[in-house]
Amino acid sequence: MLKLGFNEATCKENSSVERDLELCEKYGYDYIELRLDMLKEYLKTHTVEDLKAFFAKSHLKPFAFNSIENINFCSPEEWKEVVDLVTFGCQLSKEIGNKYLIIVPTVRDDMIFKNEQEIFEDSVKVINELADIAEQYGVGLSFEPIGDRRWCCNSVRQAWEIVQAVNRDSVGLTVDCINVYMHDKCADVDYIRKIPKEKLFVYHINDCEDLPLRVLDHCHRIMPGKGCIPIAEVSKAVMDVGYDGPACLELFRPEYWEMDAEDVIKMGAECCAPYLK
Ligand code: ZN
Repeated sequence: MLKLGFNEATCKENSSVERDLELCEKYGYDYIELRLDMLKEYLKTHTVEDLKAFFAKSHLKPFAFNSIENINFCSPEEWKEVVDLVTFGCQLSKEIGNKYLIIVPTVRDDMIFKNEQEIFEDSVKVINELADIAEQYGVGLSFEPIGDRRWCCNSVRQAWEIVQAVNRDSVGLTVDCINVYMHDKCADVDYIRKIPKEKLFVYHINDCEDLPLRVLDHCHRIMPGKGCIPIAEVSKAVMDVGYDGPACLELFRPEYWEMDAEDVIKMGAECCAPYLK
């Protein structure tokens, strides 16, 4: 049995932290994945105490912050930005009881020329450096492979090898339906079962339009059940591992950003429900 989670990317252009909190509580979500850019905006007019007060009186709880991107092959300036964002995310996580930061491999045109050994070595090094920071705050890092080849780590298999080599209790994996699909149309869905329960930190649920992989992009994500991803199979693999946390609805669909956030969040709860049990 999975819980219901909401990832703020889903309404990032038509909502705010304040409104997402209110609507997710109204429609029965158990957890929310807050976005760091939206939190920075929220904190211009609110305080950390406001956030704490909301969670203290709500069923809805924080789960993971999204996301620390482009962690690989950084220039010194880029690395400083990554470290600053991780530190900000960790400080806030500690204050409000947020468990995880999601960390994402680098997307850049030249990533297709990196071989797997180079990516492995760089990832192990940078994730260890970030975990040195996050552990001071008691925050876990959840590494998310992105199925598209423009990102340097594309598969659950590749990400799991990296996480195993890092070998720290505070570092685990995010499994995301569309990223499993984008890699090889879910041919390796069984591989998810090799991840031990304590290493599967986060599950992102979504569907996508039936497009060729060379065309398919994150803007084609769609509500669960409305596309071509075998979500029931992916969810089953995640549950077979023993994962019983939230399936967090994560979409980047411009069509939904044109809608009223309330309609999207209500539809999200309905569309996710069949895949939680
Ligand atoms: Zn995701």
